[in-house]
Amino acid sequence: MDKEYLLHSYNKNYTNFVEGKNARVYDENGKEFIDFGSGIAVNSIGHSHPKLVQAICEQAKRIIHISNLQVIKPQVELAKRLIELSGFDMRCFFGNSGAEANEGALKIARKYGEVNFEEKKFKVITLKHSFHGRTITTLKATGQSSMHKSDFSPYPDGLEYAESIDNIYDKIDSKTVAVMIELVQGEGGVEPFEKEQIQALAKFLKKEGLLLIVDEVQTGVYRTGEFLASNLYKIEPDIITLAKGLGGGVPIGVVMTSLKDIFSPGDHGSTFGGNYLSTRAGLTVLEVLEEEKKSKRLEETIKYFNEKLDHVALLDDLFIKKVGVGLMLGLRAKSSSIQSKIVQEAFNEGLIILKAGRDTVRFLPPLTITKDEIDEGFKRLEQAIVKIQATL
Ligand code: PLP
Repeated sequence: MDKEYLLHSYNKNYTNFVEGKNARVYDENGKEFIDFGSGIAVNSIGHSHPKLVQAICEQAKRIIHISNLQVIKPQVELAKRLIELSGFDMRCFFGNSGAEANEGALKIARKYGEVNFEEKKFKVITLKHSFHGRTITTLKATGQSSMHKSDFSPYPDGLEYAESIDNIYDKIDSKTVAVMIELVQGEGGVEPFEKEQIQALAKFLKKEGLLLIVDEVQTGVYRTGEFLASNLYKIEPDIITLAKGLGGGVPIGVVMTSLKDIFSPGDHGSTFGGNYLSTRAGLTVLEVLEEEKKSKRLEETIKYFNEKLDHVALLDDLFIKKVGVGLMLGLRAKSSSIQSKIVQEAFNEGLIILKAGRDTVRFLPPLTITKDEIDEGFKRLEQAIVKIQATL
Protein backbone atom coordinates (compact mmCIF):
# COMPACT_ATOMS: atom_id res chain seq x y z
CA MET A 1 0.00 0.00 0.00
CA ASP A 2 2.91 2.32 0.73
CA LYS A 3 4.14 1.88 -2.85
CA GLU A 4 0.64 2.30 -4.19
CA TYR A 5 -0.34 5.48 -2.38
CA LEU A 6 2.85 7.40 -1.62
CA LEU A 7 5.18 9.15 -4.01
CA HIS A 8 8.43 7.22 -4.29
CA SER A 9 10.81 9.87 -2.98
CA TYR A 10 12.53 7.68 -0.36
CA ASN A 11 14.70 4.61 -0.63
CA LYS A 12 12.66 2.77 1.95
CA ASN A 13 13.27 -0.07 4.28
CA TYR A 14 9.79 -1.57 4.54
CA THR A 15 9.82 -2.27 8.27
CA ASN A 16 6.72 -1.30 10.18
CA PHE A 17 7.70 0.11 13.57
CA VAL A 18 4.75 0.29 15.92
CA GLU A 19 6.08 1.41 19.29
CA GLY A 20 9.14 2.54 21.19
CA LYS A 21 10.53 3.27 24.62
CA ASN A 22 13.59 5.48 24.98
CA ALA A 23 16.23 3.97 22.62
CA ARG A 24 14.31 0.75 21.92
CA VAL A 25 11.78 0.43 19.08
CA TYR A 26 9.65 -2.56 18.10
CA ASP A 27 8.34 -3.66 14.74
CA GLU A 28 4.92 -5.20 14.12
CA ASN A 29 6.32 -8.69 14.76
CA GLY A 30 7.67 -7.64 18.16
CA LYS A 31 11.30 -7.60 17.00
CA GLU A 32 13.30 -5.15 19.12
CA PHE A 33 15.73 -2.64 17.61
CA ILE A 34 18.16 -0.32 19.40
CA ASP A 35 17.82 3.12 17.89
CA PHE A 36 21.17 4.84 17.34
CA GLY A 37 19.58 7.20 14.79
CA SER A 38 16.72 8.94 16.65
CA GLY A 39 14.76 9.33 13.41
CA ILE A 40 17.73 11.38 12.11
CA ALA A 41 18.47 13.37 15.28
CA VAL A 42 14.81 13.98 16.11
CA ASN A 43 13.96 11.74 19.08
CA SER A 44 16.29 13.69 21.36
CA ILE A 45 14.60 12.35 24.52
CA GLY A 46 13.96 8.90 23.06
CA HIS A 47 10.69 7.34 22.04
CA SER A 48 7.52 8.08 23.99
CA HIS A 49 9.20 9.79 26.94
CA PRO A 50 6.51 9.79 29.67
CA LYS A 51 6.88 13.53 30.33
CA LEU A 52 6.50 14.36 26.64
CA VAL A 53 3.53 12.02 26.26
CA GLN A 54 1.85 13.57 29.29
CA ALA A 55 2.52 17.15 28.17
CA ILE A 56 1.20 16.51 24.64
CA CYS A 57 -1.92 14.75 25.94
CA GLU A 58 -2.69 17.45 28.49
CA GLN A 59 -2.16 20.19 25.93
CA ALA A 60 -4.30 18.38 23.33
CA LYS A 61 -7.15 18.11 25.82
CA ARG A 62 -7.15 21.89 26.33
CA ILE A 63 -6.24 23.49 22.98
CA ILE A 64 -4.07 22.38 20.06
CA HIS A 65 -4.12 25.30 17.69
CA ILE A 66 -5.07 28.91 17.36
CA SER A 67 -3.77 31.25 14.68
CA ASN A 68 -0.62 33.32 15.07
CA LEU A 69 -2.85 36.38 15.08
CA GLN A 70 -3.35 35.57 18.78
CA VAL A 71 -0.91 35.21 21.64
CA ILE A 72 0.19 31.58 22.15
CA LYS A 73 1.55 31.33 25.67
CA PRO A 74 3.81 28.25 25.36
CA GLN A 75 5.25 29.80 22.16
CA VAL A 76 6.31 32.87 24.13
CA GLU A 77 7.65 30.71 26.95
CA LEU A 78 9.60 28.54 24.52
CA ALA A 79 11.10 31.58 22.79
CA LYS A 80 12.16 32.97 26.18
CA ARG A 81 13.73 29.66 27.21
CA LEU A 82 15.58 29.24 23.90
CA ILE A 83 17.01 32.73 24.23
CA GLU A 84 18.01 32.20 27.88
CA LEU A 85 19.68 28.88 27.13
CA SER A 86 21.51 30.25 24.09
CA GLY A 87 22.84 33.21 26.08
CA PHE A 88 22.15 35.48 23.07
CA ASP A 89 20.02 38.61 22.88
CA MET A 90 17.62 37.48 20.15
CA ARG A 91 14.01 37.05 19.06
CA CYS A 92 12.40 33.94 17.58
CA PHE A 93 10.12 33.01 14.72
CA PHE A 94 8.57 29.53 14.76
CA GLY A 95 7.95 27.31 11.75
CA ASN A 96 7.59 23.57 11.29
CA SER A 97 10.87 22.22 9.92
CA GLY A 98 14.55 22.84 9.38
CA ALA A 99 14.11 23.93 5.78
CA GLU A 100 11.43 26.41 6.81
CA ALA A 101 13.66 27.81 9.55
CA ASN A 102 16.45 28.22 6.98
CA GLU A 103 14.07 29.94 4.54
CA GLY A 104 13.32 32.37 7.36
CA ALA A 105 17.04 32.90 7.92
CA LEU A 106 17.57 33.67 4.23
CA LYS A 107 14.67 36.10 4.20
CA ILE A 108 16.11 37.89 7.24
CA ALA A 109 19.50 38.12 5.50
CA ARG A 110 17.96 39.45 2.29
CA LYS A 111 16.00 42.13 4.15
CA TYR A 112 19.09 43.10 6.14
CA GLY A 113 20.90 43.48 2.80
CA GLU A 114 18.07 45.65 1.48
CA VAL A 115 17.70 48.06 4.38
CA ASN A 116 21.29 48.46 5.54
CA PHE A 117 23.21 49.23 2.36
CA GLU A 118 22.86 51.87 -0.34
CA GLU A 119 23.14 49.20 -2.99
CA LYS A 120 21.37 45.96 -2.04
CA LYS A 121 23.49 43.06 -0.84
CA PHE A 122 21.79 39.69 -1.32
CA LYS A 123 24.30 36.91 -1.87
CA VAL A 124 24.63 34.18 0.74
CA ILE A 125 27.68 31.94 0.71
CA THR A 126 27.33 28.35 1.87
CA LEU A 127 29.75 25.45 1.94
CA LYS A 128 30.38 22.71 -0.58
CA HIS A 129 29.33 19.72 1.54
CA SER A 130 26.54 21.48 3.41
CA PHE A 131 22.92 20.45 3.74
CA HIS A 132 20.23 23.05 4.39
CA GLY A 133 16.94 21.52 3.25
CA ARG A 134 14.71 20.38 0.39
CA THR A 135 12.68 23.43 -0.61
CA ILE A 136 13.86 24.98 -3.87
CA THR A 137 15.81 27.73 -2.08
CA THR A 138 17.32 25.59 0.64
CA LEU A 139 18.21 22.96 -1.98
CA LYS A 140 20.11 25.68 -3.80
CA ALA A 141 21.70 26.74 -0.50
CA THR A 142 22.80 23.12 -0.03
CA GLY A 143 26.31 22.93 -1.43
CA GLN A 144 26.31 19.25 -2.45
CA SER A 145 26.23 19.36 -6.25
CA SER A 146 24.33 16.05 -6.43
CA MET A 147 21.36 17.94 -4.97
CA HIS A 148 21.14 20.44 -7.83
CA LYS A 149 19.37 18.24 -10.34
CA SER A 150 18.21 20.02 -13.46
CA ASP A 151 14.81 18.34 -12.90
CA PHE A 152 13.95 21.04 -10.41
CA SER A 153 15.57 24.02 -12.11
CA PRO A 154 15.55 26.98 -12.37
CA TYR A 155 16.83 27.65 -8.86
CA PRO A 156 16.89 31.06 -7.19
CA ASP A 157 19.92 33.31 -7.60
CA GLY A 158 22.15 34.63 -4.89
CA LEU A 159 23.45 31.42 -3.35
CA GLU A 160 27.10 30.55 -3.92
CA TYR A 161 29.44 27.89 -2.58
CA ALA A 162 32.84 27.99 -0.98
CA GLU A 163 35.06 24.89 -1.04
CA SER A 164 36.17 25.37 2.56
CA ILE A 165 36.02 27.84 5.43
CA ASP A 166 39.21 29.50 4.17
CA ASN A 167 37.74 29.80 0.68
CA ILE A 168 34.75 31.81 2.02
CA TYR A 169 36.93 34.94 2.20
CA ASP A 170 37.68 34.72 -1.54
CA LYS A 171 34.02 34.29 -2.43
CA ILE A 172 32.83 37.40 -0.59
CA ASP A 173 32.15 40.31 -2.96
CA SER A 174 30.25 43.61 -2.88
CA LYS A 175 26.92 41.78 -3.18
CA THR A 176 27.52 39.34 -0.31
CA VAL A 177 25.30 39.81 2.72
CA ALA A 178 25.78 36.60 4.72
CA VAL A 179 27.55 33.30 5.20
CA MET A 180 25.51 30.25 6.21
CA ILE A 181 27.26 27.23 7.72
CA GLU A 182 26.78 24.18 9.89
CA LEU A 183 29.46 23.95 12.59
CA VAL A 184 29.42 20.17 12.30
CA GLN A 185 28.28 19.16 8.85
CA GLY A 186 25.70 16.42 9.36
CA GLU A 187 24.50 15.05 6.02
CA GLY A 188 27.87 16.01 4.52
CA GLY A 189 29.70 13.42 6.67
CA VAL A 190 29.63 14.44 10.39
CA GLU A 191 32.45 16.90 9.82
CA PRO A 192 33.26 19.37 12.61
CA PHE A 193 35.18 22.51 11.71
CA GLU A 194 38.13 23.90 13.66
CA LYS A 195 37.10 26.23 16.48
CA GLU A 196 39.77 28.85 15.70
CA GLN A 197 38.82 28.94 12.01
CA ILE A 198 35.16 29.52 12.86
CA GLN A 199 35.94 32.16 15.50
CA ALA A 200 38.14 34.01 12.99
CA LEU A 201 35.37 33.89 10.39
CA ALA A 202 32.76 35.17 12.88
CA LYS A 203 35.08 38.03 13.85
CA PHE A 204 35.77 38.95 10.22
CA LEU A 205 32.08 38.97 9.25
CA LYS A 206 31.18 41.12 12.26
CA LYS A 207 33.89 43.63 11.30
CA GLU A 208 32.55 43.78 7.72
CA GLY A 209 28.91 44.16 8.83
CA LEU A 210 28.00 40.86 7.16
CA LEU A 211 25.83 38.21 8.79
CA LEU A 212 26.78 34.82 10.11
CA ILE A 213 23.92 32.32 9.87
CA VAL A 214 24.53 29.08 11.74
CA ASP A 215 22.31 26.19 10.73
CA GLU A 216 21.89 24.27 13.99
CA VAL A 217 18.99 22.17 12.73
CA GLN A 218 21.02 19.05 13.51
CA THR A 219 23.66 20.31 15.96
CA GLY A 220 21.28 22.27 18.21
CA VAL A 221 19.42 21.32 21.40
CA TYR A 222 22.35 19.60 23.19
CA ARG A 223 23.31 17.25 20.34
CA THR A 224 26.97 18.28 20.71
CA GLY A 225 26.84 18.35 24.51
CA GLU A 226 26.22 22.11 24.75
CA PHE A 227 22.82 23.68 24.17
CA LEU A 228 24.06 25.03 20.82
CA ALA A 229 27.14 24.14 18.83
CA SER A 230 27.59 27.94 18.70
CA ASN A 231 28.07 27.82 22.50
CA LEU A 232 30.64 25.06 22.09
CA TYR A 233 32.48 27.10 19.46
CA LYS A 234 32.13 30.26 21.59
CA ILE A 235 30.73 32.39 18.77
CA GLU A 236 27.74 34.73 18.58
CA PRO A 237 26.00 34.27 15.23
CA ASP A 238 23.50 36.83 13.93
CA ILE A 239 21.00 34.14 12.95
CA ILE A 240 20.55 30.58 14.24
CA THR A 241 18.14 27.92 13.02
CA LEU A 242 16.91 24.91 15.02
CA ALA A 243 14.47 22.08 14.32
CA LYS A 244 14.96 18.29 14.53
CA GLY A 245 15.57 17.55 18.24
CA LEU A 246 13.58 20.49 19.59
CA GLY A 247 10.13 18.88 19.48
CA GLY A 248 11.27 15.34 20.30
CA GLY A 249 9.29 14.17 17.23
CA VAL A 250 6.62 16.84 17.07
CA PRO A 251 7.34 19.02 14.00
CA ILE A 252 8.86 22.38 14.92
CA GLY A 253 11.51 24.72 13.57
CA VAL A 254 12.72 28.10 14.70
CA VAL A 255 14.85 30.91 13.40
CA MET A 256 16.45 33.09 16.09
CA THR A 257 18.14 36.38 15.35
CA SER A 258 19.81 39.29 17.07
CA LEU A 259 18.23 41.51 14.37
CA LYS A 260 15.29 41.89 16.68
CA ASP A 261 13.32 44.39 14.58
CA ILE A 262 14.02 42.98 11.13
CA PHE A 263 10.44 41.90 10.38
CA SER A 264 7.35 44.07 10.13
CA PRO A 265 3.84 42.58 10.16
CA GLY A 266 3.25 40.76 6.88
CA ASP A 267 6.94 40.05 6.19
CA HIS A 268 6.80 36.43 7.25
CA GLY A 269 4.30 33.89 8.54
CA SER A 270 3.35 30.27 9.06
CA THR A 271 -0.09 28.77 9.61
CA PHE A 272 1.02 25.99 11.93
CA GLY A 273 4.33 27.41 13.17
CA GLY A 274 4.64 27.64 16.94
CA ASN A 275 1.20 26.29 17.81
CA TYR A 276 0.23 25.09 21.28
CA LEU A 277 1.05 21.46 20.65
CA SER A 278 4.52 21.85 19.16
CA THR A 279 5.71 24.55 21.53
CA ARG A 280 4.41 22.65 24.58
CA ALA A 281 6.42 19.69 23.25
CA GLY A 282 9.48 21.92 22.78
CA LEU A 283 9.24 23.24 26.34
CA THR A 284 9.01 19.70 27.71
CA VAL A 285 11.97 18.48 25.66
CA LEU A 286 14.05 21.39 26.98
CA GLU A 287 12.98 20.67 30.55
CA VAL A 288 14.10 17.02 30.25
CA LEU A 289 17.37 17.88 28.53
CA GLU A 290 18.26 20.70 30.92
CA GLU A 291 17.99 18.14 33.72
CA GLU A 292 20.20 15.70 31.76
CA LYS A 293 22.77 18.46 31.34
CA LYS A 294 22.61 19.79 34.92
CA SER A 295 22.86 16.36 36.51
CA LYS A 296 25.94 15.63 34.31
CA ARG A 297 24.18 12.53 32.96
CA LEU A 298 24.53 13.91 29.43
CA GLU A 299 28.27 14.32 29.89
CA GLU A 300 28.57 10.74 31.20
CA THR A 301 26.49 9.37 28.32
CA ILE A 302 28.64 11.22 25.78
CA LYS A 303 31.81 9.87 27.39
CA TYR A 304 30.51 6.30 27.56
CA PHE A 305 29.21 6.26 23.97
CA ASN A 306 32.42 7.81 22.64
CA GLU A 307 34.61 5.26 24.43
CA LYS A 308 32.63 2.43 22.87
CA LEU A 309 32.86 4.01 19.44
CA ASP A 310 36.60 4.68 19.81
CA HIS A 311 37.03 0.97 20.31
CA VAL A 312 35.12 0.11 17.10
CA ALA A 313 37.04 2.78 15.15
CA LEU A 314 40.25 0.79 15.75
CA LEU A 315 39.05 -1.87 13.28
CA ASP A 316 41.25 -0.61 10.47
CA ASP A 317 40.08 -3.16 7.92
CA LEU A 318 36.75 -1.27 7.89
CA PHE A 319 37.27 2.25 9.21
CA ILE A 320 39.62 5.18 8.73
CA LYS A 321 38.69 7.18 11.83
CA LYS A 322 35.99 8.30 14.22
CA VAL A 323 34.46 11.72 13.48
CA GLY A 324 32.03 14.10 15.16
CA VAL A 325 31.38 15.60 18.56
CA GLY A 326 29.08 14.92 21.53
CA LEU A 327 26.41 12.47 20.38
CA MET A 328 26.68 13.52 16.73
CA LEU A 329 29.20 10.91 15.69
CA GLY A 330 30.40 8.88 12.75
CA LEU A 331 32.85 6.28 11.58
CA ARG A 332 34.53 7.12 8.31
CA ALA A 333 34.35 3.79 6.43
CA LYS A 334 37.01 2.69 3.97
CA SER A 335 34.45 2.63 1.13
CA SER A 336 30.81 3.35 0.41
CA SER A 337 30.23 -0.37 -0.02
CA ILE A 338 31.48 -0.99 3.56
CA GLN A 339 29.27 1.89 4.75
CA SER A 340 26.18 0.31 3.13
CA LYS A 341 26.97 -3.20 4.37
CA ILE A 342 27.38 -2.03 7.96
CA VAL A 343 24.13 -0.08 8.01
CA GLN A 344 22.25 -3.04 6.47
CA GLU A 345 23.87 -5.77 8.57
CA ALA A 346 23.37 -3.76 11.76
CA PHE A 347 19.71 -3.44 10.87
CA ASN A 348 19.47 -7.22 10.41
CA GLU A 349 20.96 -7.57 13.91
CA GLY A 350 18.39 -5.14 15.36
CA LEU A 351 20.33 -1.87 15.40
CA ILE A 352 19.36 1.32 13.59
CA ILE A 353 22.32 3.38 12.39
CA LEU A 354 22.48 5.85 9.52
CA LYS A 355 24.54 6.88 6.53
CA ALA A 356 26.06 10.34 6.10
CA GLY A 357 27.83 11.46 2.95
CA ARG A 358 29.32 8.74 0.77
CA ASP A 359 31.40 6.87 3.31
CA THR A 360 30.33 7.69 6.87
CA VAL A 361 28.33 5.50 9.22
CA ARG A 362 26.43 7.90 11.47
CA PHE A 363 25.39 7.63 15.12
CA LEU A 364 22.76 10.00 16.56
CA PRO A 365 21.37 8.21 19.61
CA PRO A 366 18.72 9.74 21.86
CA LEU A 367 20.44 12.03 24.37
CA THR A 368 18.63 10.09 27.12
CA ILE A 369 20.01 6.71 26.02
CA THR A 370 20.94 4.45 28.97
CA LYS A 371 24.18 2.49 29.47
CA ASP A 372 22.25 -0.74 29.00
CA GLU A 373 20.90 0.44 25.66
CA ILE A 374 24.37 1.59 24.58
CA ASP A 375 25.87 -1.78 25.56
CA GLU A 376 23.16 -3.69 23.72
CA GLY A 377 23.52 -1.49 20.61
CA PHE A 378 27.30 -1.96 20.46
CA LYS A 379 26.91 -5.72 21.01
CA ARG A 380 24.68 -5.82 17.92
CA LEU A 381 27.08 -3.59 15.96
CA GLU A 382 29.95 -5.95 16.78
CA GLN A 383 27.89 -8.97 15.66
CA ALA A 384 27.20 -7.18 12.37
CA ILE A 385 30.88 -6.31 11.95
CA VAL A 386 32.03 -9.92 12.53
CA LYS A 387 29.67 -11.03 9.72
CA ILE A 388 31.02 -8.38 7.35
CA GLN A 389 34.66 -9.15 8.21
CA ALA A 390 34.02 -12.79 7.31
CA THR A 391 33.12 -11.70 3.75
CA LEU A 392 36.12 -9.38 3.18
N1 PLP B 1 19.68 21.76 7.96
C1 PLP B 1 20.38 20.71 8.40
C2 PLP B 1 21.75 20.91 8.95
C3 PLP B 1 19.82 19.42 8.35
O1 PLP B 1 20.54 18.37 8.80
C4 PLP B 1 18.52 19.26 7.82
C5 PLP B 1 17.92 17.93 7.71
O2 PLP B 1 18.56 16.91 7.68
C6 PLP B 1 17.83 20.39 7.38
C7 PLP B 1 18.43 21.62 7.47
C8 PLP B 1 16.44 20.27 6.83
O3 PLP B 1 15.55 20.02 7.86
P1 PLP B 1 14.06 19.52 7.54
O4 PLP B 1 14.18 18.16 6.94
O5 PLP B 1 13.38 19.52 8.89
O6 PLP B 1 13.45 20.49 6.61
